[in-house]
This record gives sequence, C-alpha cells and structure tokens, in this order.
Amino acid sequence: MTLAQETNVNVVLRKQGEIVLEERPVPTIEPDQVLLNIKVTGICGSDVHYWLHGGIGDFKLKEPMVLGHESAGIVVAVGDKVNHLKVGDRVAVEPGVACRKCEECKTGRYNLCLEMRFAATPPIDGTLCNYYAHAADFCYKIPDNISLEEAACIEPLSVAIHAANRSKIRSGDRVFIFGAGPVGLLCAAMAKASGAGHVSMADISPQRLEFAKSYYTDSQIVLQRPDAGESNIEYSRRTSKAILETEEKADVVIDATGAETCVQMSLMLTKNGGCVVLVGMGSAVQNIPVQEISAREVDIRGIFRYCNTYPRAVKMISTGSIDVKPLITHSYPLKNAVDAFEHVKSGRDGAVKVVILG
Ligand SMILES: [Zn+2]
Ligand SMILES: [Zn+2]
Repeated sequence: MTLAQETNVNVVLRKQGEIVLEERPVPTIEPDQVLLNIKVTGICGSDVHYWLHGGIGDFKLKEPMVLGHESAGIVVAVGDKVNHLKVGDRVAVEPGVACRKCEECKTGRYNLCLEMRFAATPPIDGTLCNYYAHAADFCYKIPDNISLEEAACIEPLSVAIHAANRSKIRSGDRVFIFGAGPVGLLCAAMAKASGAGHVSMADISPQRLEFAKSYYTDSQIVLQRPDAGESNIEYSRRTSKAILETEEKADVVIDATGAETCVQMSLMLTKNGGCVVLVGMGSAVQNIPVQEISAREVDIRGIFRYCNTYPRAVKMISTGSIDVKPLITHSYPLKNAVDAFEHVKSGRDGAVKVVILG
C-alpha cells in the first residue's frame, strides 16, 4: 500500500477563531498502534468552544491543533504487536489514551490518569483528518449492524454511560435532566436503558425540547431566563418551585449544562437521599445551596469524561437498547468542515449532532 502518497487533510484550529484545512503527511505507526482511515467525526461542543474561545478552563490553545475526538474509521495498517485488529476492521475510536501504569489506571479509573493524552485537548492533535495513528487498545471493533456514523456517537454516549454509572440509577427511578443537547439527550437514553421509570428534561430552547419529545423523555420543561435584577439563587428557588407544581422530585438529577442556576435547581429538585451528577462544565466556582446537601443527604457527583464505557456502548447500540441514529441531523464532507462548525455554532435547522464525513 502506498499510503505515503495518499492525501491527509487535517482540520486545524490555527488560532482562536480560525479553522483551516491543512495537508499533513500520513502518520507512521508505533508497534502497538493502528493507522485509521477516519470516516466519520461528530463535532462536539468542546471543539466549538476551542474554536470560539481558544481554551476550556486550564486547557489553552498555544499552538495550532487538529480538532475532533468523536470518530470512527477503518483500520488500514496495524503495528507488529497488534493482535486483536486487522486491516479492514471498522472501529470506534476512544480518543483518550491513558498511561496504563499509574494508580488511577491500575484501579480502572483511567479517565483520571495524569498522563492522559486526549485528542483535541491542547496540545494533543485531534482526529479530524483522513489518516490517524492511534493506540490499538483504544480502538474497538464494531459489528456489521453498527454504522460508522453510529460508532462516532459512542464518544458522547460514553459520557452518558459514565454519568449513569456514577448516579447509580435504579429500575423505576425518576430522572431529571437539565440540557437538551446531545449529551443531555444521551443521558436520557441511558437513563431509560438503565430502567428509569420517568425521564424529565428541561432546557431554555423550546426547539430542542421539541426534539426531546421523541427521544427517551417523558416530560419536557421550557425554562425562562431570570428576570431583570433577579439573582441566580432567587431565580432557581422560584423556578424549581414552579417545576415542582407539575413534577415530582427525582431520584437522580443530571446537569448537562454547567450553568449555576441549573446546578442550584438540580439540588432543589432531588429527593431526600438522591443524587445529582454534574456533567456540564460551567464556571469553575459556583454558589450552591449547601443546606440541600447537608439537611437532605443529597449527594453531588462529578464526572470527568468516562472510562470502561466503549465495550458496553458497542453492545448497547448493537442490541438496540439505545438508538443513537436520530441524533445525527446533519453531515458535511471534510472539505466543508468550516461550514459544519458554523452550523453547530448557529444551531440552525434543528441541529443536534453534526458529523463530518472523511
Ligand atoms: Zn465530545
Ligand atoms: Zn495512568
């Protein structure tokens, strides 16, 4: 195979606000890696955030970086030490490669590995390109009944699986979710797959909630913005009281927004002894009503990405316990990647998950 002569177009964030297409050499692989021909990449809110703001929290863009981390592709070359994959295999790509040696890795919580190299988190290049070299043990072969588009959704689905694991959702539980974006919707799907009896979803966008009506949610609540001069905590008290006129308190509340008001309301809408899982990333420091935690034993749990989720995600999609296909609302060819990013930014035409086809 003369891969060296193949073109390898990369979608590069050159600096804040500037995405360019760049030809780069086809990468060479280490003995424990595979070379992938990337076929589908979903655009994530974090990619858009790096593009528009040049950083997320402590992760700042200092040098040009290839975007993208929600990918699936086909194996085109395997390293000498790789036994479980062969050329032609279709795989879902787990974009974070951990060190496999530290305490976190050895106890199974490799998402917390300090040596983690995660695609499209500065300074590590992402997967939005034609050819990508990746650790073979972070590539998962998918069965014939899963499309590469569905396989690309395994990355955001992993966040929802990890959130469900951390929340300990049980059969029959009421689950309340803030945020009707792709991750919130996948949290709803995962809640149902975990046996939730009722899933409620709240968002500021009626259009997003319209989509949610047909996607694993039982009730949808349109949130209004705070009144002029109203503080966040006043707004949260007033709004959660209004929500509780039609909704029961939930066993598990998942916040997929990161907004301070939603975190506050998450605590207020949880049953005594229930659990709040913080999935969205918002301001680093937030005001929360601590008495909800101390007087009512509401647990708050954070999640950081995910771990050990890919094999389960493959099984769940393959057996039909979760359908991710409806989430993919728009697709663009790699050469029009900038248009795809503009589309996600605008949120127009009911965009849920926009994917780039390589
Ligand atoms: Zn993502
Ligand atoms: Zn490690």
